[in-house]
Amino acid sequence: MSGLAREALPPRAATATATTTAAPVPGARPGGTPDVALEVAHLSVDYIGGPEPLHAVDDVSLTLCRGEMLGLAGESGSGKSTLAYAITRLLRPPGQVTAGDVRYYPRSGAPVDVLGMSADELRQFRWAELSIVFQSAMNALNPVMPVRAQIDDVLRTHMPGLNRNDRAERIAALLGMVGIPAARSRAYPHELSGGMRQRVTIALALALEPEIIVMDEPTTALDVVIQRQILAEIGRLRAQLGFAVIFITHDLSLLIEMADTIAIMYAGRLAELAPAGELYRAPRHPYSRGLLDSFPALHGPQRSSEGIPGSPPDLRGLPPGCAFHPRCGWAFERCRQLVPPLTGQPLEEDSLDHQVACHLYGDAGPHPATLEVRPSHSDNAGHRDG
Ligand code: SF4
Repeated sequence: MSGLAREALPPRAATATATTTAAPVPGARPGGTPDVALEVAHLSVDYIGGPEPLHAVDDVSLTLCRGEMLGLAGESGSGKSTLAYAITRLLRPPGQVTAGDVRYYPRSGAPVDVLGMSADELRQFRWAELSIVFQSAMNALNPVMPVRAQIDDVLRTHMPGLNRNDRAERIAALLGMVGIPAARSRAYPHELSGGMRQRVTIALALALEPEIIVMDEPTTALDVVIQRQILAEIGRLRAQLGFAVIFITHDLSLLIEMADTIAIMYAGRLAELAPAGELYRAPRHPYSRGLLDSFPALHGPQRSSEGIPGSPPDLRGLPPGCAFHPRCGWAFERCRQLVPPLTGQPLEEDSLDHQVACHLYGDAGPHPATLEVRPSHSDNAGHRDG
């Protein structure tokens, strides 16, 4: 967890808004943001192999706009990395996309069906339109090639018009952008520090100036100081080059600082999707609240951190209804029976982009004012259905 502190939660809105007339398409931008770069619609991924398929991602819909940073947060096993691998077509058996669409919208030309691409089309698409930064730079880089040769490989393959000198200039510029001196470009990955290796993978991801970069826990393996430096660099490069980012992390505090929009995943489904500032000020889903409550407060009176009781569920045997209900202090009867859909039911101070999958915000749930009072986790039968 980064050092970001969080103040006590603000008071909750007491009334459901009257401006919500129709439930928006889950995960879509009801406000109508025109400049969409990537659209994920009702995507489901199973791991096949055991007696029963394991539903790692279940009916997830998201949109990513140009230049936006979309953060995906959740505990281990929430499905966030599987979702990223499915979007980037890096999913390997026994993982299998069982439903849904991934559509890329280039700046010019027709939308591209990412899941339907041939191997050749995919080779053209990756790096040029969408690239990936993995958690472990050591695994992502070729250990027996100097780093400049690895970037040169990408340039030669995708930009055949560049001559040797052009490529050398571009490699120096790319490495310079991520703070690696030209003198280190002939180093092998094992000769660089962990932070420098991760910078090389970011330079590689930027080599063809893609529209989208997927970053899968890119700083998790680094110490806090280097992590801060690299995150600042990512922010600077994004402002300079305008690419969009899907940033995956278990550390919600990072996303509160960096992301424009945050999607919280739990047990393979989206629990909440909201602008980052709004999620921080007014989280709706009890799971999001639990994650945010676990930040220590730097200011104000000391308070004890309750955290979230229990552990993430085993995806092989999810509880019926809302998968979070065994850990939820607000669970009521409906929660144990029905999976809550992700819907836009914004309260008064929410934007239209705020969506949540929780029966507390449905028509038949208890009044959201009940969230003013935090029940004991041991007493999660305190609400009546309807
Ligand atoms: Fe799930 Fe019910 Fe808790 Fe909402 S109140 S998170 S639906 S258990």
